[in-house]
Amino acid sequence: MTAGTASVADLFRRAYSTEPQGFWRAPGRVNLIGEHTDYNDGFVLPFAIDRATTIALRVRDDDRIRLTSTFDEQVVESDLAAVDRRDFAGWSAYPLGVTWAIGERHPDAVRHGFDLAVDSDVPVGAGLSSSAAIEMAVAVALDDVLGLGLGRADLARIGQRAENIAVGAPTGIMDQSASVFGERDAAVFLDCRSLAVEQVPLGFDAAGLVLLVVDTKVEHQHATGGYRDRREACERGAAAMGVAALRDLSVDDLPRARTLLDDVTYRRVQHVVTEDARVLDSVAALKSGDLRRFGALMDASHVSMRDDFEISVPQLDAVVETAQAAGAVGARMTGGGFGGCAIALVPAADAEPLAAAVLRVFAERGWHEPVPFTVVPSDGARAV
Ligand code: ADP
Ligand code: MG
Repeated sequence: MTAGTASVADLFRRAYSTEPQGFWRAPGRVNLIGEHTDYNDGFVLPFAIDRATTIALRVRDDDRIRLTSTFDEQVVESDLAAVDRRDFAGWSAYPLGVTWAIGERHPDAVRHGFDLAVDSDVPVGAGLSSSAAIEMAVAVALDDVLGLGLGRADLARIGQRAENIAVGAPTGIMDQSASVFGERDAAVFLDCRSLAVEQVPLGFDAAGLVLLVVDTKVEHQHATGGYRDRREACERGAAAMGVAALRDLSVDDLPRARTLLDDVTYRRVQHVVTEDARVLDSVAALKSGDLRRFGALMDASHVSMRDDFEISVPQLDAVVETAQAAGAVGARMTGGGFGGCAIALVPAADAEPLAAAVLRVFAERGWHEPVPFTVVPSDGARAV
């Protein structure tokens, strides 16, 4: 029994005075490369991490639903009729939203309520997608106990639907895809247009490399506005270039884009077009075992986000510069930008000294203390 399973079993027994029927686990994710490409129908390359959400569940004889989490042990009560009405509140919108989304696709599947307990070691709001982890843990659990035989892509789409409709967050499908398609020492290469998925072996293990994540703890108040602004710039660029999405442009189209677009729009477009190319190059480099080349693409991705897409902040740049000065294979900010996390691919022995160096740099500059930790590419959502 893993630590997560023991504590969720304990919580389940305390809350409901009975034994769970089973345990299911789904990981968070980190994006290796491919930023702001998802809503441009492009490519992303995340992996499932070794931090996960574990749930315990038992199907009931009636239509009641009870939910509890180690984050907030108060039991939330609901029932199937409330789920039908999309009557969700607080964190229970994630598990109840998944229940609703399964019912939407399979109208007669969910006939009984259930008791559910949740535990997680995915930090919330740190850019590692604790939301996809809880969605995918619930989705694999319900798929199992209801005997639906849903495919991995279906599970991911159900989680995205829950997040879009029940939670009201207009997110893409990357996080859920990484959480269900993850494999040990592999990344999940996702085409956000066709939704085709391919696992790409990373070879970090054999090369003795680890990925250090640094949560800068910066939460920029412009994040939402900045995100909307970047999306609009991409739409404007695509329309001016006469394509459905920036995915349809290649680097050969950039000279024409420069003559047609204003400077700011051009630089936004240049980021997305070159970032798509970097994801494809990364996949090729990883397949041929060329981790140096992959690291150089990470570095180039950061420069593009800093200078062209303009979504970095001094703290993210400082992590990347510190990592590069310490001889990292590659380093870049990850996630939507304006704060959040940076990542560095480093030899395992260098992770701790680099984390210490980053803490020193932040302290010297009087910034909020960052949180560094390593993550390992791991298996996706499954029964425990
Ligand atoms: P993240 O970047 O971590 O995905 P989100 O804001 O998208 O951040 O999702 C975080 C939300 O997901 C939390 O505020 C909470 O509502 C829900 N959540 C995640 N994990 C848990 C958990 N273990 N128990 C209860 N709620 C959770
Ligand atoms: Mg999330």
